[in-house]
Amino acid sequence: MELRICHLYPDLLNLYGDRGNLLTLKQRCLWRGIDCTITAVSLGDAFAAERFDLVFMGGGQDYEQNLLYEDLLEQKGDAIREAVEADKVFLCICGGYQLMGQFYEEQDGHRIAGLGAIDVWTIGRPNRLIGNTLHQANWLAEDGRDTTLVGFENHSGRTYLGEQVKPLAIVRKGGGNNGEDRTEGAIYKNVYGTYSHGSFLPKNPAVADHLIETALKQRYKDFKGLENLDDTFAEHARNHLINCAE
Ligand code: GLN
Repeated sequence: MELRICHLYPDLLNLYGDRGNLLTLKQRCLWRGIDCTITAVSLGDAFAAERFDLVFMGGGQDYEQNLLYEDLLEQKGDAIREAVEADKVFLCICGGYQLMGQFYEEQDGHRIAGLGAIDVWTIGRPNRLIGNTLHQANWLAEDGRDTTLVGFENHSGRTYLGEQVKPLAIVRKGGGNNGEDRTEGAIYKNVYGTYSHGSFLPKNPAVADHLIETALKQRYKDFKGLENLDDTFAEHARNHLINCAE
């Protein structure tokens, strides 16, 4: 069995160790005897959805978002929107999450067009939402998994969710999508967007396993699910972070 990951714009979107999310996905596959490949797709490259089971896009500042949005929309837009509608698994962090939406309006009013793959939109504000976060993702209970998400956020954008999009989680500590409605991140079909940076999956192995399992079930129709791993060390680290935050 094999998980094929596409890493979109690894050279431009990689803040606060966002690549750690990929290391976590890969290692949790390898520990279970599942092969894992990671392929970079960047400026000028075509995005061929059928070659991948899971697509990852990290965070970037407004500068990088301006550099790449035309390539994203013109070279890859149709294929990405089709893949989203066909239930492909995506994990998109902060700037990448914003780009999956309708638009990102910078603080000076300049609009960076988004893919419109999910119905969210983002408005930049002068004060940033920065810090360690705690969120509640009750949907993880359906997998029998831990529902507390631990994270770190740093963004000026305030994101608002359209009707077809559910929040990834409810804010217990932090700003979340916009600092107003206590939502954090977004879920649409198998697209997961979040403001939690780099160590999101290392800190939240339950989400890593949910993504791997969902992606493998798309590809291997008789796949029943992942076996559990011994996450004792991760649990210690999580409990420490939760205690510090509360
Ligand atoms: N440019 C975006 C913002 O500040 C994204 C930043 C990020 O990815 N950390 O809202």
